[in-house]
Amino acid sequence: MSTDHAARRLASIQESIDKARKTAGRPEGSVTLIAISKTHDAAAIEPLIHAGQRVFGENRVQEAQAKWPALCEGTPGIALHLVGQLQSNKADDAVALFDAIHSVDRSSLITALARAMDKADRRPDCFLQVNIGDEAQKGGCAIGDLPALLQEARTADLPVAGLMCVPPLDLEPAPYFALLAKMARDHGLSGLSMGMSSDFPTAVTLGATHVRVGTALFGERA
Ligand SMILES: *Cc1c(COP(=O)(O)O)cnc(C)c1O
Repeated sequence: MSTDHAARRLASIQESIDKARKTAGRPEGSVTLIAISKTHDAAAIEPLIHAGQRVFGENRVQEAQAKWPALCEGTPGIALHLVGQLQSNKADDAVALFDAIHSVDRSSLITALARAMDKADRRPDCFLQVNIGDEAQKGGCAIGDLPALLQEARTADLPVAGLMCVPPLDLEPAPYFALLAKMARDHGLSGLSMGMSSDFPTAVTLGATHVRVGTALFGERA
């Protein structure tokens, strides 16, 4: 992908975000676009960096460790978000590399992250992931478990930025986004990580503060 091509894709997605944001009467700068670069190599990512994108997301700690230190060199201000399931034994690595973690979904992980943050003296923003469609294979805590988990995260001094969800693949996402937004409001949380390539404008209309867009920016993954 050339820098021109990347810049055009980026501008078009940013335009869709802005349009949805204005429709919803939300202020400028209230939505962060996270470019999900999982599976893509440096050659695919660099044009987006050159086009001005600074916030990127990965779903695997090891893949991110292999790719990003070199990409960050020479470009200050890059922020990395982890959007994939995280094993507790990778908490140290995740805390060292990422600026935000969107997949906090269980007690054992909260404990591991709190310990890792204390040790590293570095505190990435945390989003609690909710299994909003109650799907067996999906990450995220059960809807009913959120209050207790949030309490644990706050007690452990994790910087809880908000909630995250991935709605069921083949269903209309709006009701799920609306439900997550209500849960966040009810708990005094301002961050809402929701919306992917196929549905990010809907998510923005319903209050997303962070949209996670891969395919629409990079093309199909191999
Ligand atoms: C891969 C991924 C995305 C991006 O999905 P696209 O459909 O390619 O935009 C967003 N969120 C999570 C959690 C992902 O794993």
